[in-house]
Amino acid sequence: MKYYDVVIVGGGIAGLECARNLSNSKLKILVVEKNKSLGEKVCANGVTIGDLRLIPKKFLNFPLRKLTIHYRNKKFILSNHAIISTINRKEFLLNHLNYLKSKIDLLIGKKVVDVLPKDSTIILESGEEISFKFLVGADGSCSVVRRCLGLPSEKIEIGMHYKIPKNFKNFEIFLDSANFGSGYLWVFPNKSYTSIGCGSDIECISPKKLKFNLDSWLEDNGIDFSDAKFEAAMLNYDYRGYKFGNIFLAGDAAGLISGFLGKGIYPAIVSGKQIANDILGNKCRILDIWLRKKKLQEKFMFFLKRNALRKIALSASIKLMSINFFQRNFLNLIL
Ligand SMILES: Cc1cc2nc3c(=O)[nH]c(=O)nc-3n(C[C@H](O)[C@H](O)[C@H](O)COP(=O)(O)OP(=O)(O)OC[C@H]3O[C@@H](n4cnc5c(N)ncnc54)[C@H](O)[C@@H]3O)c2cc1C
Repeated sequence: MKYYDVVIVGGGIAGLECARNLSNSKLKILVVEKNKSLGEKVCANGVTIGDLRLIPKKFLNFPLRKLTIHYRNKKFILSNHAIISTINRKEFLLNHLNYLKSKIDLLIGKKVVDVLPKDSTIILESGEEISFKFLVGADGSCSVVRRCLGLPSEKIEIGMHYKIPKNFKNFEIFLDSANFGSGYLWVFPNKSYTSIGCGSDIECISPKKLKFNLDSWLEDNGIDFSDAKFEAAMLNYDYRGYKFGNIFLAGDAAGLISGFLGKGIYPAIVSGKQIANDILGNKCRILDIWLRKKKLQEKFMFFLKRNALRKIALSASIKLMSINFFQRNFLNLIL
């Protein structure tokens, strides 16, 4: 049986970030990715100004732009500063891959189907078994590693979008709790398309109704989506820790995405780095800031998930946001 010091399941953002941060050590590292090509992920790819602490600017599709928020037929531009853009996920991951190629082992196009925590072994679809000293589950919201640890996932969102083959200029968010549940509708330009989509906790609205409302919004706004690719995915935001003995969970597998914003790229990167630090015995706690932000954001969701409180919470927040002091603090909280 093959043996590695660290086996990372998943060659997404969290997995490759973790691998990169371990790759200069003497540890023998393996990344197993089920897809034949990297970056095939349902995502609007939105990143905000704070994320650029960890994402080099060269991977942005555009320089940062201003964000327009729409609420009840009113619109306002969030802050005078440019705060949002999208990343080119494929280029970002390929850059990691090129860096890692000569330093670690990669099994691309191989699926992990089981983990035996007591034997410190993973099993591939081909039947091959590989043993490890440390295992990192960076395998997304439907994580096989999380399942094998016996962790439930009770906080679930559905995210869906159309990739409209047209370049919209503005980054926009539409707050409309009647149609988009605990979430919102976004318009996020990427390089060759614009992602127009929405997401919500499934307790607030069914995926079918959400899709119906997204289609109606596009029709009402005269946006042709007949040629657009539709994609949807479940998101687990049920965080229950990331370290379980010699097994770690990173990014969506750990439920680290923000249930309030659907922001998952930044926590995927931070958790990948944190786990590498833990494995290398470094004391640095870079994940804690995100955990505090996530907790606060999800306290706000308590109101958004309740029909009676949702409208009050949204209109109160919008009123407060028009005051500069609150806007600055709110942005610090979420970005
Ligand atoms: C519609 C939608 C829009 C979104 N928009 C945004 C946004 O604008 N901004 C933002 O920050 N976040 C957004 N997100 C969330 C974001 O995409 C994720 O949080 C982020 O990609 C998480 O990265 P990850 O590396 O943890 O997981 P993933 O990107 O899911 O990577 C997991 C990897 O593991 C592999 N894998 C899975 N199972 C196995 C297995 N059994 N064996 C081997 N490999 C396996 C997968 O193929 C994949 O490559 C959005 C999500 C959705 C659904």
